[in-house]
Amino acid sequence: MLTTTTMMAQQFNEVTYTPVKTTFALFAPQDAKAVKLRLYREGLGGKAQKTVRMIWNDGRWRAEVKGDLKGCFYTFDIGRGECPGVFAKAVGVNGHRGAIITMSDTNPEGWANDQHPITKTPADLIVYELHHRDFSIARNDARHPGKFLALTEPWAIDHLKSLGVNAIHILPSYDYGSVDETRLNIPQYNWGYDPVNYNVPEGSYSTDPYRPEVRIREFKQMVKALHDAGIRVILDVVYNHTYDIEHSNFQRTYPDYFYRWKTEGEKKAKQYSNGSGCGNETASEQPMMRQFMIESVKYWVEEYHIDGFRFDLMGVHDIETMNQIRHAIDEIDPSIFIYGEGWSAGPCALPNDQLGMKANIAKMPGIAAFSDEIRDALRGPFSDDTKTGWLGGAPDCEESLKFGIAGCISHPQVNMKEVNYSETPWATEPTQMMSYVSCHDDMCLVDRLCASVPSLKAPNGFMGLSKEQTEELVRLDLLAQTAVFTSQGVPFMLSGEELLRTKLGVHNSFESPDSINHLNWDNKEKYPQVFDYYKKLIALRQHHPAFRLGSADLVRKHLEFLDAPKGVVAFRLKDYAGRDDWRNIIVVLNAARKTQALQIPLGTYTEVCCDGIIDEQGLGTIQGGLVTVSPQSALILHN
Ligand code: CA
Repeated sequence: MLTTTTMMAQQFNEVTYTPVKTTFALFAPQDAKAVKLRLYREGLGGKAQKTVRMIWNDGRWRAEVKGDLKGCFYTFDIGRGECPGVFAKAVGVNGHRGAIITMSDTNPEGWANDQHPITKTPADLIVYELHHRDFSIARNDARHPGKFLALTEPWAIDHLKSLGVNAIHILPSYDYGSVDETRLNIPQYNWGYDPVNYNVPEGSYSTDPYRPEVRIREFKQMVKALHDAGIRVILDVVYNHTYDIEHSNFQRTYPDYFYRWKTEGEKKAKQYSNGSGCGNETASEQPMMRQFMIESVKYWVEEYHIDGFRFDLMGVHDIETMNQIRHAIDEIDPSIFIYGEGWSAGPCALPNDQLGMKANIAKMPGIAAFSDEIRDALRGPFSDDTKTGWLGGAPDCEESLKFGIAGCISHPQVNMKEVNYSETPWATEPTQMMSYVSCHDDMCLVDRLCASVPSLKAPNGFMGLSKEQTEELVRLDLLAQTAVFTSQGVPFMLSGEELLRTKLGVHNSFESPDSINHLNWDNKEKYPQVFDYYKKLIALRQHHPAFRLGSADLVRKHLEFLDAPKGVVAFRLKDYAGRDDWRNIIVVLNAARKTQALQIPLGTYTEVCCDGIIDEQGLGTIQGGLVTVSPQSALILHN
């Protein structure tokens, strides 16, 4: 077995190509019986053109093949089944074989000058979570529906820019296994949380998965087009598990090294731990797994110019690894944003205090986690789709909502005893908190409101609502997002919410057909007031630094909650917060089905949001003192 020191001394550079020879190096056990390299003409099928026995040397199994191998495919085999290694950078169809290409051939025009769009603080980000197929498959005007290239098309860029989002979080876009790339003539759908090759784009999102360079070039074209539009690209990374153990590239090259066991004592019985809920969990604390994750994120930044990472089940990874990743990324560009799910999907084989859990965020500076406090305070608990939250009139949600609005930091006016999930504030800075009400997991906002708000329950969900119910749903939808986008955390929205997206009530749509998952583009014309409100709400945040102070001390200094009746949360951003043009901003959020009154400080105020309409220029003026807020709506004032 290798010592840790030997392991750490080397990286995962598996293939080094030159026109006269190609060298291969594989991280595999020294005591492996026979390690073979096979070369193929095709990415799938056909016989090996050449089989080479690899030789153990300097901590790796190695081979050197003379001649120009550009365009060839290869596999490694230690007797566990052929695979392209763990760090293939180009692959054939379905990712079974590695491919030898020249990466510089894949760069689109202008790539050398491509840059990360500038953001000063993560609080400036407006994150829009998107699945490639959801977003474009139902667009008649898309030239490349369901593909990376759809995001280069004018209709797509126009929509994103006019909405005002400045960061696209793309659901798994590395090569995953659940869509068969050889059968793209039939519709197939998956979210893609079943990684095969972590460092290669997914083939089904390319126009030709058989040609290894195409998916790489098209992914870069997508990044370039979004960057040119001032939009960052955030990658959803799923290092916490693989689809299974037996067929994974990890297991096929270094058996049992990359996974956690339930306990040392049970190791002989092969009791794999299952903190991912998918049958296994990777072992980020193992030196080469940690090294793999660090190299992988660096590779996506350097080769593909990625601007941020969303770590799936970050609570499966250890804190030290997450901090080392943050450090490695800081050396490239500290503005690259890192956040994750601060939980796991089952017990992990490491103590909780060593894991990247939400409760441990204070030990991970520069890394953010999703706030289930604000999400569930607004719409109801994760565990039951039919239960409502503050939006549907559930009692005692206000304190959790306040906690979320403050960015999940310690704030003197938030009583932690009344907050739903956390006993202590977990974020050191508000930029460590992702503020949201819905994401790809779970019901989208429209469906959740229909499933849980008593007055909106209808047999056919959204499609079955009366006109009055639809109006109520719209009011609550806009109110929910107003809470999210006026929070001091980093606002995040699911793609399509601006179009009153419905997934017809499907909760876990990970392999549902397009008819469930596609965006409801028709709603852009049908409910223009919804898109208009989202757009103006985002613009309001972007025009006013008071909503994105970026520092806990500034939030404590400038954010003051106002006394309000049940069902109302009200706050003031005071004294030119964040050097805002507006001296004081008052936000009143009323979930009740009746008009409510509250006291605000005296003065003459300009109304900028009232009754589901936003106009930064002003909708009128009102006097301070006792003011009223309409049912199920937000009131925003400034002076
Ligand atoms: Ca694939």
